[in-house]
Parts: sequence; C-alpha cells; structure tokens
Amino acid sequence: MMSLYDEAAAHVGIDPSNYAILRKPDRETMVAVPVELDDGTWTVFDGYRIQHNQGLGPFIGPMRVSGALKVDELRALAAWMTWKCAVINIPFGGAAGGIRINPRKRSRGEIERAVRRYTAGMLDIIGPDRDVLTPDIGTDEEMMAWVMDTVSNHERHTVGAVVTGKPIALGGSRLSREAVSYGLRVILRLALEHYHLDESRTHIHIQGAGQVGGTLARLLHGDGHKIAAFSDITGAVYNENGLDIPAILAWLAETGSLEGAPGEYERISNAEMLSRPCDVLIPCAIPNAIHSRNAREVRAKLVIEGAHGPVSARADRILHDQGIPVVPDILANAGGVVVDYFEWVQNRQGLSWIEPVIHKRLARFLTEAWLAVAKFQLRYGVRMRMAANMLAVVRVARADQMRGIYA
Ligand code: NAD
Repeated sequence: MMSLYDEAAAHVGIDPSNYAILRKPDRETMVAVPVELDDGTWTVFDGYRIQHNQGLGPFIGPMRVSGALKVDELRALAAWMTWKCAVINIPFGGAAGGIRINPRKRSRGEIERAVRRYTAGMLDIIGPDRDVLTPDIGTDEEMMAWVMDTVSNHERHTVGAVVTGKPIALGGSRLSREAVSYGLRVILRLALEHYHLDESRTHIHIQGAGQVGGTLARLLHGDGHKIAAFSDITGAVYNENGLDIPAILAWLAETGSLEGAPGEYERISNAEMLSRPCDVLIPCAIPNAIHSRNAREVRAKLVIEGAHGPVSARADRILHDQGIPVVPDILANAGGVVVDYFEWVQNRQGLSWIEPVIHKRLARFLTEAWLAVAKFQLRYGVRMRMAANMLAVVRVARADQMRGIYA
C-alpha cells in the first residue's frame, strides 16, 4: 500500500524528509482485554488502535471485531483512512483498530464485556477531538452504542461523537448503512458524464450482492439503469436486457443466496461475468477480484471500485493500458466515511439532518473530490488512482508542513 503512495509523493515532488513522517503511524496502542466468560472463567483478548496521522485533524477509523485481526492490516487500513479523508477533504486523519475475538463463537454478553473493556482501555486516546471509532467487519449498531455508553459513563455526560454507526435514536445518522452505495451512485453519475457514456443506455455489472452491491443494485435499478449482471459468491445471473433486480433482492433477503433466484437469466461464473461486455463494471465483493491474470479479459468501458482494493495494482496498469479507466476505491467508496463525518458533525451540533440534506451534502463532498482528482489527473497526465493518491499526499504533507514539528 505504501509503495503506491511513495510513488505518488515522488511524482508530485514532495520533499522526502517531509514525506518520511507519513510513512509511519503516529502511535500504536495495544491493550489487554480481560473478559469473564459465560462459564465464569476469565480470558484475555488483544485490542489494538493504530493512529496514522493527525495533520488534518482528529483520527477517525474502523473498529473491527474479528478473530482474524492482523496488526499489519490495521496499519494499512489506518494509513488508507488518512488518504481517504484527505481526498474527500474532511478534517480528520486515519486510524484503525479492533479486538481479536470471533463474534460468531462468543455469546452476546461476552462480546459486550469485551467491547466495553476495550473502550475503557482506549479511553486516553479516543474521543470526539481525539479519535472517532467507525463501524467495520463484525460490528453492529448495538456495539457502537456500547462504546458510546462506556465513554459517557467515564466522562459523566453523554459523549455521542466518539463513535459513528450508532442507532438513530442515540444520535446515529440517517443513510449511514447505505452511505457507501449512495456515494457510488453519485460517483457513477460523475463518471458517466466525464467519460461521455450515455446515462440512459448503460449496461452495468455489479459483483457482490451484499450490503454495498445489493443496495447499489437497488438504487441503480430504481434510477432506470440496466443491471445486466449481478453476482455473489455462488456466481452471477446475467441478462443482456436487464435483470429483475427487485425480485432477485427479495429472493436474496429470503434465502441469502442468488442460487435459484426468480426471473429470466443465464447462470454464469464470476470469471465469465468479468469478460462479458458492459459499460460499467462495479466490483463490490472482495479485494483483488480483478488481478493480473484476468485483467485482460475485462470487457467493460469503465471500472468503479466499490469494494476495498478489488483491482490489484498490476491489474490497474493492465486496464489502463487497455484504455479502461478505473475510479479508485479511495474516491469511489468514500461515501461511508463522509456520512461518518456527518454523524460526528450532527452530534456536535445537537441536530439530526433529514435525508435530503444528507444527499445534498454527500453529493457536494464527492463532486468536489472528483473535480480535484480530475484536475490532478489533467495536470500530471496520470491515471485516476495515481491522481487521487497524489492529491491525498499533497494535502496531508501540506498540513504537516504548516503545523511543523512540536519541540
Ligand atoms: P457483504 O459481506 O455484505 O457482501 C459481500 C458480497 O460479496 C456477498 O454477496 C458475497 O456473496 C460476495 N462474495 C464473497 N466472496 C466472493 C467471491 N469470491 N466472488 C464473488 N463474490 C463474492 O460485504 P459488504 O459490506 O457489501 O462489503 C463489500 C466490500 O465493500 C468489501 O470489500 C468491504 O470491505 C467494502 N466496503 C464496505 C463498506 C460497508 O460499509 N459495508 C464500506 C466501504 C467498503
């Protein structure tokens, strides 16, 4: 991950001594999370928080609850959050952390005790002006509420803005669950215009039928787009003339799988889906779905990254060489962190914004980011991913430069 940003920093001519500060996290914290299990015995889980860079403002980033938590992955995620906040121009730096505990193997009570003890262990370094925790793999609204409640009990007053993804009744934001997909919808509109693709005739392929891909399919179908292919882990359903998305989503909600979904379509594999011609391919499932061995098969006119890193670095170059632009994740799926920021703002204002306000402000942030990236792309003659990375590095390095080094 860092090598891409090293390249961006060199390209844009940032002083290497200034950039050196961005290559290391500001702070890494590990806490022991002792928990009394349901059988009365005690055990200790590991909790982490990696805070990458606070040049632009307090830290913000995911709290992950997973048995497979890897510290190196958290380091990459924290830095990646810094770049994302910078591109989208919100006043935060990146962080990431979590508890190494498998939520499927533990009771709700054990998870609650772990989340609360983890939060208590991190009290000195988290808070609305220090570090804001956002939902991620393995978390849900209730867990985010436990974080808020634990901090509030220690502070002796309600502290909502320390955590996002809360239930709306406790200060959560409207549209927070669907924010990534709403953001992707805005980015699609900007991209179609930018690349002169006819909005009324686009054939779209969506890989992934989960929270991001499923919601996106619903939104785009509702907008009148033709979703010609839609897939999950079991493979894709394909109909050149467009799929009956509402019926398929209803089936998915009932059965959890595309297998046996109603409607007229051809059943094809995920690999085949990538190689069928379409206007826009939006991978919303897994990292590296498009890699160096299958990138040459892609027949889309445009790729928009819905998932984290669905196009590998090598595949990105191959697609570029084939004349297929890729809208990078750092910009395309940033709707989530924009609405996290909105939740923090609403909590601090003591307001709850209605949906049209959120839509309007989300579109504004993404459009401004899109235009800023497009300007860099034009000025430096680089592909979009590099332009977004350059913009991010410039903004963070400039903030660090202006603040200087204390002492
Ligand atoms: P999800 O678990 O709800 O859905 C994942 C979907 O991908 C499922 O339909 C699953 O069947 C499918 N899938 C899994 N393995 C596959 C494979 N090998 N080939 C094809 N399809 C496969 O996940 P989600 O929340 O929709 O997230 C999807 C991606 O978007 C992830 O990369 C995630 O990190 C990223 N993302 C999610 C959010 C969020 O708020 N949910 C925010 C930003 C980015």
